[in-house]
Amino acid sequence: MRLIDLHCDTLLNLYRDNNCGLFDNSGHISLKKMQQGGALAQFFAVYISRNEMKTMDPYEIFQGVYEVYQKEMKKNKDVILPAYCADDVEKNQSSGKMSAFLSIEDGVAVSNKTERLVEFYEKGVRLITLTWNFENEIGFPCSKDEKAHRLGLKPFGFDVLDEMNRLGMLVDVSHLSEGGFYDVAKYSKKPFVASHSCARALCNHQRNLSDEQLKVIGDKGGLVGVNFCAGFLREGAEYSAIEDIVSHTVYMADKAGVESIGFGSDFDGIEDELEMKDYAGYPILLDALSKHFSQAQLDKICKDNAMRIIKDCL
Ligand SMILES: [Zn+2]
Repeated sequence: MRLIDLHCDTLLNLYRDNNCGLFDNSGHISLKKMQQGGALAQFFAVYISRNEMKTMDPYEIFQGVYEVYQKEMKKNKDVILPAYCADDVEKNQSSGKMSAFLSIEDGVAVSNKTERLVEFYEKGVRLITLTWNFENEIGFPCSKDEKAHRLGLKPFGFDVLDEMNRLGMLVDVSHLSEGGFYDVAKYSKKPFVASHSCARALCNHQRNLSDEQLKVIGDKGGLVGVNFCAGFLREGAEYSAIEDIVSHTVYMADKAGVESIGFGSDFDGIEDELEMKDYAGYPILLDALSKHFSQAQLDKICKDNAMRIIKDCL
């Protein structure tokens, strides 16, 4: 058990398909595949999908997906247990169990109420991705348009940042505008994460981080999870190749420091063909990475860096 992955959208698939369970399914992540791949802990996002938002409000979507999560955690308690802090991960590991962290992708679910953050915290949420690809009450998404990309957090966004710092939740800047990113970097009292993003210098996509952003994350003791989405690895690609994941990992470790790199696969949220196929393919990636990193460095990328930031923030 040696991997912590910062982002997947598996819960939404389970919510949409009642017949599909977490233990064994045909998606990228099942508990079986996590065991084969060597999982220690997985961040499971409640992704507030724009598709569901056509007929439901964001909070209702959270509730629906959260119920599925709770049901799956109960059903599979012999294999995986919810975790709320670093000690939980260690405790679960010592009894041979994997850990699950609950997160929310898109702060639109906070619905302009800081009290809602307390409620989410009490329900076990330990990471919130401040925006998805649309503006919300917190801020603006990353954009191809330079002016839009420079937009910072909104006033409510600063309240959210303070409250998440106070409660002990990880602030996630993946999908956020560059202006919002630098506001978080300047005003967050704790290190922060970009849970599933790659390097802009290797693939010019607005979802990826510039060298300067990578350096800031490193300076602040934060963490970037390398995303396996083909289009973030190579411009226009539809095939997610292991050598491209390796290139981004090596490049980002050079810019941010190897202490600030982890994985944020985006499994079950990406539709490309993947060379590593699913979670069970992680060992193939680690083998490819071992040609560039020492065992100690690989341990940091796989789990130690994530454990450090979990200890720092939660
Ligand atoms: Zn995402």
